Amino acid sequence: MKESYQTITKDSQGWEAVRKGFAEATHGRYLPPKAILACHSPEALQEALSFVQKEGASFCLRSGGHNYEGQSSNAPGGYIIDTAGIKTRKWLGLQKFRLGVGLTQVEMVRYLQKFGQAIPYATGGTVGLGGLVLGGGAGLASRTWGSVAHHVTRLHCVLADGSMRWFNGDTPEGKAIMSAGGGSIVALAEVEVQTHWKPFLPIFFATWNAADALKVLLALDGDGPDSDSRLGFVLRIGTDGTVALFGQCNAGGYGTARKLLKKLLKSAPIPTMSKVVWLPHFLASNQFFRVNKQQPNGWHAMVGNQLFKSSSAITTQRITPEIAEQLYAIVLSHPKLKTTPEEVSMVQLLIGGGAMWKADHQHIPYHDSRVLYQLDGYWIDPTDKEAVLEWVASLRKAMAPISVGSYVNYIDDSIPPHERSHRYYGEAYDQIMIIKKQLDPQNFFTHSHSPKP
Ligand SMILES: Cc1cc2nc3c(=O)[nH]c(=O)nc-3n(C[C@H](O)[C@H](O)[C@H](O)COP(=O)(O)OP(=O)(O)OC[C@H]3O[C@@H](n4cnc5c(N)ncnc54)[C@H](O)[C@@H]3O)c2cc1C
Repeated sequence: MKESYQTITKDSQGWEAVRKGFAEATHGRYLPPKAILACHSPEALQEALSFVQKEGASFCLRSGGHNYEGQSSNAPGGYIIDTAGIKTRKWLGLQKFRLGVGLTQVEMVRYLQKFGQAIPYATGGTVGLGGLVLGGGAGLASRTWGSVAHHVTRLHCVLADGSMRWFNGDTPEGKAIMSAGGGSIVALAEVEVQTHWKPFLPIFFATWNAADALKVLLALDGDGPDSDSRLGFVLRIGTDGTVALFGQCNAGGYGTARKLLKKLLKSAPIPTMSKVVWLPHFLASNQFFRVNKQQPNGWHAMVGNQLFKSSSAITTQRITPEIAEQLYAIVLSHPKLKTTPEEVSMVQLLIGGGAMWKADHQHIPYHDSRVLYQLDGYWIDPTDKEAVLEWVASLRKAMAPISVGSYVNYIDDSIPPHERSHRYYGEAYDQIMIIKKQLDPQNFFTHSHSPKP
């Protein structure tokens, strides 16, 4: 049979760049793969899987390559099956589209905006649709429209038995596949999505002095999740004294955005700056992707050899003043680094609520969360690594009394293996395992963070 995937080996030009994923910190951790099987179509993906199955070789799947622990680059002596080349873009009529898993967020915005359409996007411009949607996926539009997975009407998958199948997004199979995290039940090639008419988008920003950080954190953790669901927003508290809110208003224009932002901030201190800008959607999204021709990796850009460690803590109750104080004290005690990375270590609050709380999201792990705390540390000099890892771990520990779980799209090796299934999947775990046993009884699709019996 003619090979329809491209085989890239260490003798191929550009091997080093191609085999590396986004998470620079993980690159030295795993032994290199034998080859990368680059797929540009669902059929090529099917052939690549059949090949590794026949060889009995280890493999991992990759779309955008942003897995935080480098799982999509981890196939020692085996194969990375790269689906980044599956870039299907097809209009199916009305507000329906077929999209390939290899599309990045920037590519999706650009394509859908030709039709004035949108779905919720991740805030990282180069994040792949594949990994994002397989973990449910949430973005700045999710408080209004729901998760990324909620917009998927059909999934085009290659199963462990080698067959290719379409599943409807609202079936038990479709729901479990899009809750279990990437590389866990099937290989995904394409999805069909239902979109929203949104050619223009008001976006907003607000900043405060560092002295107000704690008050802002308590105000937005407290009121944010119950605020008007037309708003989607994130609060960032950086170790450099940054206290910044950014977000978008997903229904209504400039006036609505101004009014809702004012209401949202009523219990917070007066910002040093606040502004609303009404832009064509693709330009608005680019503000969050921070698209820059010299540095196209979005705002978590890996500059030079910049490294990062990320963790997360999901809450379903308000943060207490004591925990907030402890958290902020840790932010302030960030270790002094030998080389200062461009990205700032931070605690970032991704505010939940709105459409995510609705009953039709029950299958998504922790859909009822109030806040997803993202805990990110950056460094460059290898001798700074341990101190930053410890700093991130201490943030996670501080959140432990109120944290109910962790986000499967922010996987974290410091969560002990026996705790992972519970922490990532919560109450959705049993249903995920029922579907996993049906579709992949031999556990063909597996990695160190995938759901285990
Ligand atoms: C800058 C940045 C911003 C982010 N912003 C957000 C955000 O706003 N919202 C959010 O929800 N998440 C966000 N994330 C997290 C992101 O959603 C996850 O890291 C996601 O898993 C990345 O998907 P990927 O395709 O780029 O990664 P990959 O590393 O390619 O894949 C992730 C996982 O899916 C598996 N996989 C990949 N392709 C396939 C396939 N075709 N079939 C089956 N399994 C596959 C991989 O093996 C891996 O386990 C962000 C990440 C970054 C780095």
